[in-house]
Amino acid sequence: MRYGTAHGWIEVVAGVMFSGKSEELIRRVRRALIAGRRVQLFKSHLDDRYGGQFQISSHDGRRVDAEPVSNSVQLAERVHAETQVVAVDEAQFLDDGICEVVEALADGGMRVIVAGTDMDFRGEPFGPMGLLLARAERIDKLSAICVVCGDPATKNQRLIDGKPAPAEGPTIQVGGAESYEARCRRCHEVPKRDRAQGELGLLR
Ligand code: ADP
Ligand code: ZN
Repeated sequence: MRYGTAHGWIEVVAGVMFSGKSEELIRRVRRALIAGRRVQLFKSHLDDRYGGQFQISSHDGRRVDAEPVSNSVQLAERVHAETQVVAVDEAQFLDDGICEVVEALADGGMRVIVAGTDMDFRGEPFGPMGLLLARAERIDKLSAICVVCGDPATKNQRLIDGKPAPAEGPTIQVGGAESYEARCRRCHEVPKRDRAQGELGLLR
């Protein structure tokens, strides 16, 4: 399927939680609306931060609603041929198939903007984000503020009952009682992994 004649590309907005990825995605989408582009916005169905509602509007009344999708095939099916800009939020929750989908969209002339947390709570690549970063024409990696020391934060700290969660927990905890903090490398704690590094003599 060809999606148009314009030059397409992929841009990724990556970074830790609370680093402003959604704010940046919204900014880019709003500007695309101002430019009069036809925009579609998708988000993972796993993300309910917006309480099922997620809508971006520009001052001149143009508006786009986020469409929840559960996988990359569903996303591909929902993209209209006349769309010029495709934005995807929380892409870390999608399957690796999203890489082929965004490549096809960009090859077909669409501007694709993908936002997502590139590292899981262990500091490992999260879902398809590593692959997307490798394929993107443009990458912006945002940092937050470490809640412990105030330095730039680059890691997601998972806490369970206020304590650092062990590395062996699931990457995506559905309906769990865990919480997250943005932390810098020094303040980031992953108990099992820290021990493994200690055994290797790598821990300072
Ligand atoms: P993301 O999509 O990357 O999770 P959001 O765009 O939803 O980020 O939220 C970013 C906002 O979160 C910031 O503008 C700030 O107001 C708020 N915030 C809360 N905690 C932090 C933190 N530790 N560091 C930076 N911003 C934070
Ligand atoms: Zn810190």
